[in-house]
Amino acid sequence: MAEHWKVPASRALRADGLRIADIDTSARPGFRGGKSDGQRLLAERGRVLAGLQEKLYANGRTGDRRRVLLVLQGMDTAGKGGIVRHVIGSVDPQGVDHAAFGVPTDEEKQHHFLWRIRRALPRGGQLGVFDRSHYEDVLVARVHRLVPDEVWQRRYDEINQFERELVDAGTTLVKVVLFVSLDEQKKRLRERLERPEKYWKFNPADIDERGYWPAYQQAYQAIVDRTGTEYAPWYVIPADAKWFSRLAVTELLIEALENLDLRWPAATFDPAAELRRLDRS
Ligand code: ATP
Repeated sequence: MAEHWKVPASRALRADGLRIADIDTSARPGFRGGKSDGQRLLAERGRVLAGLQEKLYANGRTGDRRRVLLVLQGMDTAGKGGIVRHVIGSVDPQGVDHAAFGVPTDEEKQHHFLWRIRRALPRGGQLGVFDRSHYEDVLVARVHRLVPDEVWQRRYDEINQFERELVDAGTTLVKVVLFVSLDEQKKRLRERLERPEKYWKFNPADIDERGYWPAYQQAYQAIVDRTGTEYAPWYVIPADAKWFSRLAVTELLIEALENLDLRWPAATFDPAAELRRLDRS
């Protein structure tokens, strides 16, 4: 466990029994340092993460089917993109399978909601990242009544069964939801409107979505309650401070990779004999 953490991030951030409405989005559960400690640690721990990911990749190259999948959820402006850039950005991109899920295409709409998700699953040895995920089908789909109630209602069980399958096949799931306060969200949206280099990030619908916050809270509560399992728990991350949310996700990934107890793959040749051959060449 890295310095400044009172308990492992996985324990401090685990969502079991959490009331979404009670989250303090400016809190730093489990962490006792300040911003400068956090920023320094982020760089340091990013290197640790990169080393572990390289080991996962090396094992994948030699047939290990294990993989880690980060599932990122959060309201608009919560910082999903920043996690991808700053946390996943610290590892070798060759070892990353990244997928972002927007409004389903016409083709995707013809299929079961998990169809596009299955197609995007990480390969063995890869660090997968889902920027939004199958959970949109019980979040936006529920809040905006995109499907009849009985359809989204049965999805929780379908998701649990799907994730059980993934875990049994060697995937470690790290499911993260980032929360910012409505005030912090307003500040971030304002920035997108005031800075031309941020216009591209602005979507007018994000303002409308703010009006649905109580319904989203309810929908988030349901995913935490109904799909937070022993084999695929949810971690809830207060995200008003970007450095904290990035550090927290880094720590969760480090823990997930450490739990795999990875070793460097053994040589399939005799290194001493190859060295002698090299010297002679
Ligand atoms: P983001 O808001 O994640 O930064 P973005 O603004 O660039 O992304 P896209 O990635 O193109 O937009 O799409 C995200 C949007 O797609 C979100 O509004 C999300 O709710 C919606 N979406 C994702 N999955 C689904 C789904 N299964 N059904 C309906 N809408 C979905």
